[in-house]
Amino acid sequence: MTALSAKLETLAIDGGAPVRKTLLPYGRPSLDDADIQAVVEVLKSDWLTTGPKVGEFEECFAEFVGARYAVSFSSGTAALHGAAFAAGLGPGDEAITAPLTFCATANCVLYQGATPVFADVSPDTLNLDPAKVSAKLSSRTKAIIAVDYAGHPASLDELAELTASRGALLIEDACHALGAKYSGQRVGGIADMTVFSFHPVKHLTTGEGGMVATNNARLAETMRRFRNHGISSEARERQESGQWFYEMVLLGYNYRLTDIACALGLSQLEKLAPNLARRREIAEQYTEELRDLPILTPTVRDDVEAAWHLYPIRLRLELLNAERADIFRALRAENIGVNVHYIPVHQHPYYRELFQSSESYPVSEDAYKRLISLPMFHAMTPQDVDDVIHAVRKVLGHYETKGKRLRLLESRQAK
Ligand SMILES: *Cc1c(COP(=O)(O)O)cnc(C)c1O
Repeated sequence: MTALSAKLETLAIDGGAPVRKTLLPYGRPSLDDADIQAVVEVLKSDWLTTGPKVGEFEECFAEFVGARYAVSFSSGTAALHGAAFAAGLGPGDEAITAPLTFCATANCVLYQGATPVFADVSPDTLNLDPAKVSAKLSSRTKAIIAVDYAGHPASLDELAELTASRGALLIEDACHALGAKYSGQRVGGIADMTVFSFHPVKHLTTGEGGMVATNNARLAETMRRFRNHGISSEARERQESGQWFYEMVLLGYNYRLTDIACALGLSQLEKLAPNLARRREIAEQYTEELRDLPILTPTVRDDVEAAWHLYPIRLRLELLNAERADIFRALRAENIGVNVHYIPVHQHPYYRELFQSSESYPVSEDAYKRLISLPMFHAMTPQDVDDVIHAVRKVLGHYETKGKRLRLLESRQAK
């Protein structure tokens, strides 16, 4: 399809035929027969929870991400809470994080009675800007919680230097970034603690589930207790050693991941490599075939391998005669399940009320007005990918301001 004929199509929102007959979601898990069989075997076993699959999954996961330890949790949010607890966050302490994230990243600081302090993101990757973080460091800073936005690792070296200078810990919210690499190393063994989620939209699913990877034995032990009521030994160890005695040594929660979930996780882990490769392929095709449109496609910095949980484009609104909301609606009408990641955390009513702050984070706020996440999951067919590209070209072609676009082309040719 040429650019010109694409422009002549009537948008579905204006009564034209949609690009697809059925909605393509922005993310979708894939489960195969081996996954189902793995779960069925656990259902027939003696251990539905606190059994052997938990340790097995944790070991295989730690090995995959290149960390010494991995501690499973009932969700990514519970895992963040565990990491915040192990970092020693409490009342009076601060943790610096990005506004452009899912609210759970900041909520885990509040769970501990500590204060989340926001620092703005860099315009290219939309990850925490180390210079902005540096300006927010104080004697109360106990942790930096970096988010690997869309699956692109944050500036881990620069942030680790900042935490080291303060005796603080670097927690990496890598819920988007399982399998991503930074300086040739998988995320998981780099930050003090790296947090993952196994929600169905993520790379690997256990229904609900999460994990914290760390190289620090003390942090791992603290998190194991925290996720199990603060008890110092686990049920199976007690049964195996024929003991009834246990001690609760800290105030923990029941944040355990079941054997049912861990069996699914183990089975899913085997398919992670082709999953990541397929996501990279889709991202490359999007970038190649959308780059002449009035949008910014995601940047990948040198020395990084992104895991592509999301493919967020940013609209160049100055070249379009529509707002993000119009373009979002038009794409949904074409049956493309676009989404927006994220409403900046400080703009949510709860946070506005809590902080009563007028501080702004211009890069995050500007990005939020422009962001649209295109469908991205490894089971997308070539036709699915083509449909997304077709719909984005159709809709943006319609809303493009022709005169400005011509001038843009001219200025490009002049370079
Ligand atoms: C998914 C996600 C979480 C929370 O994970 P759950 O498993 O849904 O609790 C936290 N942070 C980020 C950035 C996420 O994308």
